[in-house]
Amino acid sequence: MKKLEQIYEGKAKKVFKTDDPNLVIVDYKDDATAFNGEKKGTIVGKGVINNKMTNHFMRELAQAGVPNHYVEELSDRETVVKAVKIVPLEVIVRNIAAGSFSKRYGVEEGRKLAISTIEFSYKDDALGDPLINEYHALALELATKEEIETIKTLAFKVNDFLKAELLECGITLVDFKLEFGRLPDGTIVLADEISPDTCRFWDSKTGEKLDKDRFRRDLGHVEDAYQEVMRRIMGK
Ligand code: UDP
Repeated sequence: MKKLEQIYEGKAKKVFKTDDPNLVIVDYKDDATAFNGEKKGTIVGKGVINNKMTNHFMRELAQAGVPNHYVEELSDRETVVKAVKIVPLEVIVRNIAAGSFSKRYGVEEGRKLAISTIEFSYKDDALGDPLINEYHALALELATKEEIETIKTLAFKVNDFLKAELLECGITLVDFKLEFGRLPDGTIVLADEISPDTCRFWDSKTGEKLDKDRFRRDLGHVEDAYQEVMRRIMGK
């Protein structure tokens, strides 16, 4: 596998071509951003943790019937994944009210939701990733009805799987964001990452935040929190 030229650089990852047109290499950075790029910083060691944690979950999810882009971990920060066309929707699943949901609906953070919920944002930085409903997504041809149904089913499967595994590690899965992609044959697969950058993890006993909210809200001990979830989930 040859790492060829960079094709994309995002806020937290770079993507490189390989000698196989169906495969790309993602390279995780320590750069952290929040509030649509307004706040910038570094979380030392984050790239390694997000790479390894994402790969751990992706391997397990594939076994559990959630097809995804994972192929092979190359190094601490680099992973080979299937090249996909990302569906321009951020898919957010919530078990407990927090963040923008709490603000939008005036609900205190930490309130357990009567059912797990799902919502979509239109993935467009210039617009600030606005909330979008299924009719809007269809009207704008961001995805088909069938694709949206598949995405919803898979997203709740991911929730059930992660919630159970994390509970065993003493972590409450509050909410998380997923992204899905299309393979060349049109199959929808889970893509992107599953990490403390994209999930809210609370210590089940103390409620302590073990995720990117420590960076967003200047709570301190950001690196410690990332290392703690890594240790609990992967035993190192
Ligand atoms: N999230 C994310 N990327 C985004 C927006 C949200 O990974 O661009 C994650 C976030 O980490 C949290 C969940 O999605 O786990 C729900 O985030 P929310 O809508 O509450 O937004 P926030 O409060 O982070 O602005």
